[in-house]
Order: sequence, then C-alpha cells, then structure tokens
Amino acid sequence: MKSRDGRFLEEDDIIEAMTDDIALIILPTVLYRSGQILDMKRLTAEAHKRGIVIGFDGCHSIGAIPHSFSEWDVDFAYWCNYKHLNGGPGGVGGLYVNRKHFGTMPGLAGWFGSKKDKQFDMEHTLTPAESAGAYQIGTPHVLSCAPLIGSLDIFIEAGIENIREKSLKINQYLMDLVEFELKDMGFFIGTPREDIRRGGHVSLEHKEAARICKALKENGVIPDFRAPNIIRLAPVALYTSYAEVWEVVQILKKIMSEKQYEKYKNEREVVA
Ligand SMILES: *Cc1c(COP(=O)(O)O)cnc(C)c1O
Repeated sequence: MKSRDGRFLEEDDIIEAMTDDIALIILPTVLYRSGQILDMKRLTAEAHKRGIVIGFDGCHSIGAIPHSFSEWDVDFAYWCNYKHLNGGPGGVGGLYVNRKHFGTMPGLAGWFGSKKDKQFDMEHTLTPAESAGAYQIGTPHVLSCAPLIGSLDIFIEAGIENIREKSLKINQYLMDLVEFELKDMGFFIGTPREDIRRGGHVSLEHKEAARICKALKENGVIPDFRAPNIIRLAPVALYTSYAEVWEVVQILKKIMSEKQYEKYKNEREVVA
C-alpha cells in the first residue's frame, strides 16, 4: 500500500489492504515524516472485524499525545523512550500488551520475562509474568533507565492532556509564522492542519532542505533532515517557548533572504 501523495496515509486505503492473507498489522501511531496521526481506534476496530491482530509503533507519539490503547482495544504497542520522553539515545524501550493477551507464552522468552517472584528460583521451566513483563528478555540497562525516572515524573506532574494542549498551540504558532513570515520562500507545510490528525512535530518541505538544515545548525537551531526534502522541527511542549519559535522562524527568514544555505552542499550528513 502506497501513500497517495507521498505524505499521508489514508485510513481507507489501509483498511482496503486488510485482506484475507493478513494475520498481523504493525503501523506507526504518528508518521515520522509528515507527523500524521493515524486513526488508531478505527483501524483497530476494522482489523478486529477481519480477525487481524494489530499493534502500533509509538516512537513518535509517546510523550506528545495521549493514548488510549486499552479503550481502543489495540492488541499491543511499543515505543522508544528517547524522543519526546527524553530518556536519552539507546535507552530502554516500552511495551503495552492488551490484558486479553496476558498469559500467552512469549515467542522470544528470556529469564527476565519470569513471574517476578519466581525469577530467582532459577527453575528450568519458565513461569512467565502475568503482564507485559512476560515479554522482557534480559536485565534492563539501569544507567539509561535512570533519566527516565526523572523525566516521567515531570510528565506525570504536567499531565499529558496539558502537554498535548501546549504542543498543539506551539506547533500551530510555528505553522502560522511559517506561512506569514516565510511566504514565497519555497516552503510547504507537509503536516496535517487539523488538530486531531497531527502529532508533536512540524514537517517543512523545501527543495534545499538538506542545506537549510546545515545553516540552521550553524545558527544554533538543531532540526532533523529527512530525505529528500524535509526539515523536521519539534517545538517541545515542556520547555520550548513561543519566543524561541519566533526566533527560529526569524533565523530561517535570514538564512533564506541572505542565501546562507548556498554555502553548503544540498546533501545530508552521516547523522541527519
Ligand atoms: C526512534 C524509532 C525507533 C527506535 O529505534 P531504536 O534504535 O531501536 O531504539 C523505532 N521505530 C521508529 C519508527 C522510530 O522512530
């Protein structure tokens, strides 16, 4: 199944692809390029109508939008904790398993999936944990779990609904500024405009995107470049201010009007 416009996925197209030969579906919650949120509730219901198990990769939504996996009856979901949740690169991942699957024997079992009070009995047969813990394989990396403890406390204190509200506003502000301040400079906003369809970042398309990103870095702004033409900007609800967003757009405007980007090749570096 292909995107119709190279940016977004139509839920109708995904549902049409749920044919008899499909047993399992894994989809992103939020597309990493355009920032589109998929309608997880609808897709889950449609998959289940056809007897298909469905799970989501939440790397680009965890910490940015609220999730109701149990309410939507999603079978499973997983995510890294190092993007919006600030766990730091290489940190431990997260897993959601719907209660209805508790008690299934993990396909890839490891000693850390033991029922926690049995784990150190060192028995030769595995007694799996009765929750998502059954899918743990080995000892988690303690040093990379530590920053997550601090970060999750802040997320709980702030509340994900408040974070989402600020995230929608600050991203909207960014998009409005881009339209107003960078008019006729070749930018296209490749993120859905409706609140319910956009996640925590804004995708700016430009044919000089790779070198504009390099110029942004030289000006102290760290974007992501995604080939062939995307500048990914993620104002962070918890600590990016509206003034900083304004400043970034002014920097972009200066880069474009002074053609600062022409100093660089329009190719990505090893780390984009
Ligand atoms: C960041 C990310 C991951 C996590 O990758 P790891 O290097 O395995 O931690 C997985 N899926 C998507 C879509 C991501 O963006």
